Order: sequence, then structure tokens, then C-alpha cells
Amino acid sequence: MATSARLLADLLQLNYVAVYSTHVENMEGPQLINRELRKSFTDEVPDPLQGGTLKLVLDGRPVLLPSITPQLAGSDEFIHAMGFGAFAGLPLLDERRNLLGALLIGSEKTWRGQPLLAETLRVAAARFGFDLELQRAREQGRAKGLQDSLTGLPNRLLFNDRMETTLREAHRTGEMFAVLFVDLDRFKNINDSLGHAVGDKVLHAVAQRLRKAVRGSDTVSRYAGDEFTLILRHITQRDDVKRIAEKIVNLMEVPLSLEGNSELRITASIGVSFYPGDAITTDDLLRYADVAMYNAKSMGRNNFQIYQAVSEDSNQQRIALENNLRKAEQNGELRVFYQPQIDAKTEDIVGMEALVRWEHPDLGMISPGFFIPLAEESGLIVGIGEWVLRTACVDAYNWQQRYGLPLRIGVNLSAVQLRQKNLSEVVAAALRDSGLDPGSLELEVTESINVDTVSDLIENMEALHQIGCQISIDDFGTGHASLDYLRRLPARRIKIDQSFVRNIGVDPDDEAIVKATIEMAHNLNRDVVAEGVEIEPHLRFLREHGCDEVQGYLFCRPLASMAFDRMLAERQRLFGRQVGNETAV
Ligand code: C2E
Ligand code: CA
Ligand code: CA
Repeated sequence: MATSARLLADLLQLNYVAVYSTHVENMEGPQLINRELRKSFTDEVPDPLQGGTLKLVLDGRPVLLPSITPQLAGSDEFIHAMGFGAFAGLPLLDERRNLLGALLIGSEKTWRGQPLLAETLRVAAARFGFDLELQRAREQGRAKGLQDSLTGLPNRLLFNDRMETTLREAHRTGEMFAVLFVDLDRFKNINDSLGHAVGDKVLHAVAQRLRKAVRGSDTVSRYAGDEFTLILRHITQRDDVKRIAEKIVNLMEVPLSLEGNSELRITASIGVSFYPGDAITTDDLLRYADVAMYNAKSMGRNNFQIYQAVSEDSNQQRIALENNLRKAEQNGELRVFYQPQIDAKTEDIVGMEALVRWEHPDLGMISPGFFIPLAEESGLIVGIGEWVLRTACVDAYNWQQRYGLPLRIGVNLSAVQLRQKNLSEVVAAALRDSGLDPGSLELEVTESINVDTVSDLIENMEALHQIGCQISIDDFGTGHASLDYLRRLPARRIKIDQSFVRNIGVDPDDEAIVKATIEMAHNLNRDVVAEGVEIEPHLRFLREHGCDEVQGYLFCRPLASMAFDRMLAERQRLFGRQVGNETAV
């Protein structure tokens, strides 16, 4: 709320922004919960409750005074005392339009000739209303026993609720997510020998360490006693989860200092299961994570294990799924989603990445992170990859024509495709049949492919380059061949992997890698795209260090082609055709 208030004050050049909260049950009246003051022109800020205006607002009536005459000011003591030139008060409402509080803003200058003001205030009030509602929901959560009182983490009840929500979402969007079961090793010993106070301290520290290891959008809960459960969302590669699990194991080992200069070392065993790869229900996901956790214990504790289905059963499941995948293209179950790529400076859209989805008749959307490996092992990726390429070229061509934008389309190539002798012919045909200019097509090659074991890789890349396509190196920084790659491949652009971007503001080492990567790429005349840009601080950092383009949830999730088209239409309606000026998606 403080950030929103500051933004609003900057945007409208306000001297006063205040948020009041009211509770029906609260006898003390409205409470000030946030106030932003700029260059106050009275020494002491009076209480707005002195005047009658706040009462009006709290009765649910918005007040907008764009220009205050001395006479008008005289009718409200507060406005008078503040010496405002303009003032507004807006009721803050929840989703069901119940009153939660009031937003008061005042400025030294009047608001004549500001046509968008009322609209801006409406949006701001909605935002503050939402924040207030969230704050209350949290308070209620604590009151209703959804939060663990020792650690402040969600408890088992709230965890189960989050699982249900996550499952529903994933079913709809095809995202992959992971469930982690974290169990402290020999916690009972600590409790028994050092006492409960120390035990509590350990649990508290563990809660903090777990929170630190994951993103804000992930769930960490205290499931029971010394058991913690985590939901890690929006997983694109299983390896990302391995890295987080590893990080947790390492974080746990950091000695915990106790009173009297003594130190305590705690360790944990972790089990991991994946949706939808291992299971598609809450119970099964937890059960499998638990099984994997026991495996970790039996491997000598202080490590993590990923659930491995061992039975015949799972093998059959796999074969069945592979058979379904074989028919998926013919049955029209494959979709291409598109995620915009944004110019870091102008914030205008410059291109999009094609991301395949499988809309399974029973399982809903399935993430490529799950079925691409399957398709690669069975060779099905060749057909699927060509279908994605063709679809993406046609869509890109249509959007270029319809909206007059020189949009670039990024298509992922798998290692298996790169081994195909006729790859450049397949690409050339897709370009010819769609009418798309080769320069608009960018093929993304992941860095984890070994240049030396894929014998035709360099030849294929050169051939693609000859046709006029652009090439980018995907997931840059995760493999071991980054520099070698840059030197040997005719790549125009590199994409910094999300696992580094995610840690901007968290891990100085990863920040240094991002910085150095951008510098090195620029020295070699390559452009840089950052992936997985989720929050403002990521963007700020990347911009500061000269990153050229950004892609991530901060701007937009991958969209179905209809939704992507609507987004482009909306952009055109708002900003017209030209690219490269101060526009946003
Ligand atoms: P990728 O090439 O690294 O693609 C980016 C992935 O990051 C996409 O996941 C995208 O949805 C996700 N992403 C984008 N912004 C954010 C963000 O802000 N936060 C987070 N957490 N994630 C973000 P998706 O669609 O699940 O794709 C996963 C991987 O599957 C891709 O990783 C790519 O390697 C592969 N893939 C997708 N489509 C194709 C395809 O048509 N062919 C081939 N061979 N591989 C594909
Ligand atoms: Ca990619
Ligand atoms: Ca990537």
C-alpha cells in the first residue's frame, strides 16, 4: 500500500495521500493505515475526521473537488487547515461492494485540465480496496486458524486449500508444478535434549529459511510438527526444482546460533513430486512426495529425492500417454500459445515466443515441460515441432499484416530436430507456405545441447542462417558450454535463463552473472533477452544493466492465439500503429 500511495503521489503530484480503514465492529472509528506526505504546507497535519467530508466518503459517497475556493474550503475544517487547492475522497470497497475504508488525496495545485483524473482515481481506489481486502483476509486467516501461530506460515488447512486452487489453475493453463515434503532430521532429539524453547526456535528458523529459498508466489506451509510442505508453481523444467531442493538442503545446514554462543546444525530430508507427471490429485501428490521423502531418509538423510514410480503400472501409463500423444496432432489437441517479448526501453511489443500446449481430453492442458521429453524420447517431437513451426509462421504472418507491426516470432527447436538432415528444408517450406519473411523467424536452440555430440548442429545452424532466419541461444547460463556456443554458433541473440532472473534482488551471485552475461553478449554484438521477468525489481535491474528485451509474467503470460490477437487489437486501439515510441502492451 505504501508503494501504491507513493506512486499515486508521484503520478498526480499530490501532497497528501491517506488510506483509512473502517470496521463495522470497531468502536474507535476509522483508522489511519497509510499516509504519504509531500512538502506539507501546514506544520501539523490535522485529523480529517474534524471535517464533514470524510464522513460523507465513509457513507459511501465519492467527493471530488478539482478546484477549491476559499469559500468551499471554509466548509470543511480539515481541507481548510491543509490549504489544499484540490481534494478528493473515495470510498474503498471490496468485491461485494461493502465499504472497507476511504482514500483521501489532496494537492496544492488545482486539477483543472486533467481529464483522466477521475478515471485514475477510480483505478487507484480499486487497488487500495483490493489491498485492504487482502489485508483483512489475512487477519481473518489468522483468526480462523488457517495460519500456524508459531511460524506464521499457512497451516495444513490453508495448504490443502492452496493445493486445490493450484490444481484447478494448472488444469486450465497446463502449467507444471512441484510439491515438496520437507521433514527435519532427528528433530525429536533436539526437543528432548535441548527443550521446547529451542525446538520452537529451530522451527521458526526453518520456516524463514524455506521462505527465503522460494518465490513469493510459491506456498510454504507448516504441515504438522516438524513437517513442512511446499508448492512450487510455474515450473518449466524439472531441473529448476532440483536446484531449489538443493538450495534448501544447503540453507538448512547453515549453523543456527543459540544462546550462550552454542551452535546447532539442523538438516532436512526432502521428497518431491510433480504435477501432472506423477499424479493429478492432492492426495496422490502428497503421498508421492512423502514416499520420496522417506527415500531421502533411507539414503542417509540430509538430501532430497524425486519421486520415482517403480511399478509396471507407471510404465504402462507412459506407453498409454505416448500413444495418446501420437494421436494428439491429428485429433487437433495441440495448441500454440504465444508470449510477448518486450523492448526493455520503450516497453512496446517486438515479438513473441511460440509455446506448445497439449489439451488432453481428460487431463486438461499439459505443459510442454512434461510432454516434450516424452516426445523427444519417442521421436514424436519431429512431427510436433514442424506443426508448431508452421502454425507459428502462419499466425505471425497474419498478425504482421493485420496490425502492421514487424513482429518477430521465436520457435523452439529440440535437439532431436537439430539432428534432422533436412531441417533447413522444413523451415524453408514453412516460411514459403506461410509467406513469412525469413528475417522475422527466430529459432531458439537451448544451450544444454552438446555441440560435439549433435554432429549436424553447426551445419544445420549455418544453413538456417543462410536462409535468413535468426538464431537465439535459449536458457543461456544453465549449460556448461556458454562461451563455446557464443563463439561457434551464428546466434543473433541470447536468452538469459529464468533461474538467474528469478534471483535478482535475492542472490548477489546470480545478479553478477546476469550483469556479466549482458556485458559479454554486447561485447560480441549479441542482443540479450531476459526470460522469467516477474516483478518490477527484475525489470529495473535488467534495464539498468542494458538488457535489450524482456519476457515474463510481469508483462504477460503465454496466451492462446485468440487472446493474443485481442491483446494486439487492444494495443492498436490505445496506441495506434507506430512501434518504438513510449508505448506499453
Ligand atoms: P523455454 O523455451 O525456456 O520457454 C519459456 C518458459 O517459461 C515457458 O514455459 C513460459 O511459459 C515460461 N515463462 C514465461 N515467463 C515466465 C515467468 O515470468 N515466470 C515463470 N516461472 N515462467 C515463465 P512453458 O510454456 O511451460 O515451456 C517450457 C519449455 O518447454 C520451454 O522452455 C521449451 O524448452 C519447451 N517448449 C515449449 N514449446 C516448445 C516447442 O514448440 N518445441 C520444443 N522443442 N520445445 C518447446
Ligand atoms: Ca525458448
Ligand atoms: Ca528459456
